[in-house]
Amino acid sequence: MLKTHHCGSLRQEHVGQQVTVAGWVHNWRDQGGLVFLDLRDRSGVLQVAIDREKQPEAHALATQARSEWVLQIVGTVVRRPAGMENPNIATGEVELHASAVSVLNRAKTPPFYINRDDRVEESLRLRYRYLDLRRERMQRNLILRHRVIKFIRDFLDAEGFLEIETPILFKTTPEGARDYLVPSRVHPGKFYALPQSPQQLKQLLMVAGYERYFQIARCFRDEDQRGDRQPEFTQLDMEMSFVEREDVLQLIERMMIEIVETLTDRQLLAKPFPRLTYQEVMERFGSDKPDLRYDLAAIDVSEIATQSDFAVFKDAVTAGNPVKAIRVPGAGNQSGGQLRKFHSAYEERVRAVGGKGLGYLVLPAEAGGEVKGSVAKFFSPELQALLFEATQAQPGDVLFLLAEARPVIYGMIDVLRRSLAEEFNLADPNTMAFCWTLDFPLMEWNPDENRWDPSHHLFTAPVPEDEHLLDSAPGQVRGQQYDLVCNGYEVAGGSIRIHRQELQEKIFGLIGLDMVDAKERFGHMLEAFTYGAPPHGGIAPGIDRLVMLLAGEPNIREVIAFPKSQMAIDLMVSAPSEVYPEQLEELSIQLALADEAEPE
Ligand code: ASP
Repeated sequence: MLKTHHCGSLRQEHVGQQVTVAGWVHNWRDQGGLVFLDLRDRSGVLQVAIDREKQPEAHALATQARSEWVLQIVGTVVRRPAGMENPNIATGEVELHASAVSVLNRAKTPPFYINRDDRVEESLRLRYRYLDLRRERMQRNLILRHRVIKFIRDFLDAEGFLEIETPILFKTTPEGARDYLVPSRVHPGKFYALPQSPQQLKQLLMVAGYERYFQIARCFRDEDQRGDRQPEFTQLDMEMSFVEREDVLQLIERMMIEIVETLTDRQLLAKPFPRLTYQEVMERFGSDKPDLRYDLAAIDVSEIATQSDFAVFKDAVTAGNPVKAIRVPGAGNQSGGQLRKFHSAYEERVRAVGGKGLGYLVLPAEAGGEVKGSVAKFFSPELQALLFEATQAQPGDVLFLLAEARPVIYGMIDVLRRSLAEEFNLADPNTMAFCWTLDFPLMEWNPDENRWDPSHHLFTAPVPEDEHLLDSAPGQVRGQQYDLVCNGYEVAGGSIRIHRQELQEKIFGLIGLDMVDAKERFGHMLEAFTYGAPPHGGIAPGIDRLVMLLAGEPNIREVIAFPKSQMAIDLMVSAPSEVYPEQLEELSIQLALADEAEPE
């Protein structure tokens, strides 16, 4: 080894020892007779002092060294003089007095500071990802990611799971996104598909009798890059045989609690995790992935609103639509002008998601004061009192009132909750608020295609009590599906699966899959189910999202070593890229690019 010790490992106990360290120049200060270098390796930073009088040769080299040069330094560990300790670094009580310096490599001036946590434009960071990854924050994230994955492997091994790899070159999978296709050279005109998840293979492993499987699995989905998505991402993919929903929920919940409590200093909002039905989360939070770190729940006030003099509310209720109230604590404590601005900013947000308007009421800060706001005049004092009771509104609060058909009103509630929480800083960054969303509808009506779509995927089993509704009222059938949610993100989704061929065929039929097509795509599943498929179920937590939340990062690119940009481009190597004509020829592929569609 070119080093005897790691830079960040040296402590008081090493004082007096001769050591060799190697790493990158993090900082340098030339004070004439003395050069100070902070040498960094993965373990941390160590201050090195090089004295011109004592070590003229080493000193001469050290004066040339610049940021990010790679050095090897031999020296003696000494205690720093009293008052010169640096409590900000782990090695802050000692320093190295160098006797020899060797330059292992020079470095150009990096395009951004490695030693500072400055905001750097993301495209620059991604282009020079190998430099970006040198930064402490990125290192911390990747180390955490490693620990989470190691923890998961150990945990599941102890629970009797086997890690089994499944192919990357595969066939179309049922997650509902677009596939990435890989042309076959040996079978011209035929394609593999990259797996959107190992869904079918893990189910087939259950048919094969493995009972408990997991994999840290790469998944590929060719989706439009809206929001925080990556074309390839990592799931902890799992499947278990002879289980019921409860078994899966308890195992995952135990694992998540242990991960948070062992690997982070974050607080769990509630243990056990709250369980909410799909209907409940939609009605109260307008989203199936609510952030429970704050309340801002929508309360149904239709009964009260229909007695008001406001035609909009009365008509909404007559039409079967709800009127809902969201209480914004303390928001009434601003001047009239500010309040009107505040209201119109939020009204704009609900309009952006299809709402027609937003009513509001302001409770006076003092008892006996006047209730104000755009809809105050339509509510008698008695009705106002009922509203405040139903919403538990306090003096100085604002009540937002919304009336709209479902599902538009859900989007309005969701956008109000998210943006109010941001404005009032209600989401404590140190809290992890997990919850389960259960009892999703098995299928959703797709008005564009005029058919039912599975709300999870094709293999999710209906709740047994609802199976008889499959023909008469498919929209009312609940699926045995579960989502684990944390801080407003879905961190895992899974289900108990169908394991009987007849039921699987029936579901294929209901979602309008032509039987010939179904057999072509999923015939192997139907066939496997005829050979003694055990009852089984599973789940797949997203590793990127989970680590992002554990690390307190705002997006998943911060916890992936080499992510794609939001436009699905690898900015470091420029992928995707054009290929040589011979390569296409070998694959029997001709491009049909329109002239104006200039490749980038
Ligand atoms: N394959 C599913 C998904 O990727 C997860 C599961 O059902 O286990 O969402």
